[in-house]
Amino acid sequence: MRLTRYFLPVLKENPAEAQIVSHRLMLRAGMIKQQAAGIYSWLPLGFKVLKRIEQIVHEEQQRAGHIPLLMPTLQPADLWRESGRYDDYGQEMLRIRDRQDREMLYGPTNEEMITDIFRSHVSSYKDLPLTLYHIQWKFRDEMRPRFGVMRGREFLMKDGYNFDIDKAAALHAYNRHMVSYLRTYERMGLTAIPMRADSGPIGGDDTHEFLVLAATGESEVFYDAAVTELKLGDRAVDYENRAEVAEVCREFTTLYARTDETHKPELFDQIPAERRRVGRGIEVGQIFYFGTKYSDPMGANVVTPDGSRVPVHMGSHGIGVSRLLGAIIEASHDERGIIWPEGVTPFHAGIVNLKQGDAGTDAACEGLYAALKAAGLDPLYDDRDERAGAKFATMDLIGLPWRLTVGPRGLAKGVVELTSRRSGESEELTAEAAVARLREIYADR
Ligand code: ATP
Ligand code: MG
Repeated sequence: MRLTRYFLPVLKENPAEAQIVSHRLMLRAGMIKQQAAGIYSWLPLGFKVLKRIEQIVHEEQQRAGHIPLLMPTLQPADLWRESGRYDDYGQEMLRIRDRQDREMLYGPTNEEMITDIFRSHVSSYKDLPLTLYHIQWKFRDEMRPRFGVMRGREFLMKDGYNFDIDKAAALHAYNRHMVSYLRTYERMGLTAIPMRADSGPIGGDDTHEFLVLAATGESEVFYDAAVTELKLGDRAVDYENRAEVAEVCREFTTLYARTDETHKPELFDQIPAERRRVGRGIEVGQIFYFGTKYSDPMGANVVTPDGSRVPVHMGSHGIGVSRLLGAIIEASHDERGIIWPEGVTPFHAGIVNLKQGDAGTDAACEGLYAALKAAGLDPLYDDRDERAGAKFATMDLIGLPWRLTVGPRGLAKGVVELTSRRSGESEELTAEAAVARLREIYADR
């Protein structure tokens, strides 16, 4: 993409309404525009990152054997009467009447609808295990929408639902979700710690929240510092193997890590003092096992091998897809702007032309731009007629992890400059070597 052809409405001034750095940087970098309290348009740069995050979520869900579908945003109230939640849900639910005066709602979550799909089409244990998920907009009429996309009213969520024959099988699904979430967040450059949580309005026995440590997080967290060192890395996990998946979960949930809702001071105090930490975290996901809470009242049964009918064991598992943009920025920025991890960056590299209009420099930039595209990369070429300082400031603000700087002085030596946004370190390379280096950096992303 050439910047002169792109739509990147960056702001020079700090927007007054933004209280936290991720919200400020998303507005300044022209990623989002607020349309009503907690409701945003996703401008091209923000939309691109959102799509990258969605893509990672899809890949990791499907790697775990979970199947994508798409349910609507609007739902009939009657479905929610079957579970009893239409009355329980309260003011966060946006209730709507259509022209026939039918009661509808904008879905805050989809347990009822997925259970309805299941009961309409599945009736045998032979069709289990089954996990279905979608990535869809939700609406919750939050009392205090704030912090930009972190606490929106309309927000994008991945929500998945498992259907299993018994509790042991459903807990395996729970564990699969935990491992797939760990991998998902790591690919986004995040450390998200699973913490034992309270079940809240969804109701259930087993539940963990995934928290990204950040001073601006809304949850108070208590943890053993050693938990932040755990990494899944690129180890292969066989998602079909119950024992293996359970062992990974054990590794990640044994050290103390809890939110204020489940915190137990007497357990916390057993951690060696130098490893005890109190901080704040952003909830970027949550997994639940809730047994037959919905299948029972809604009649989602299957026939077992001995011919009896049993309600299926279920769980629901969510990732805050749009909130993740804010969480990533909170975890990765400096005073000049965003620093995107390679896994989610909107463009792989920026090209800065130091002397726009100079025939040799323009030609070198065009050559580099074409070579990067031919290598399967997605560059952003700043071809504006602007001072170098302004171009650097824009690149730093929008946070591309790699910048290629091209000017007459380097070209006279046959080199361009490759700079890491994170470390600030630069290296002089021939254009070919720079392309090869970037190709290597992005080889498995
Ligand atoms: P919170 O405690 O932050 O209100 P929740 O526990 O009610 O969230 P879940 O039902 O667990 O939310 O939804 C799954 C995920 O969706 C959450 O882990 C969070 O990342 C995201 N999410 C929830 N509410 C919002 C919101 N208002 N704006 C953006 N993302 C949200
Ligand atoms: Mg939650």
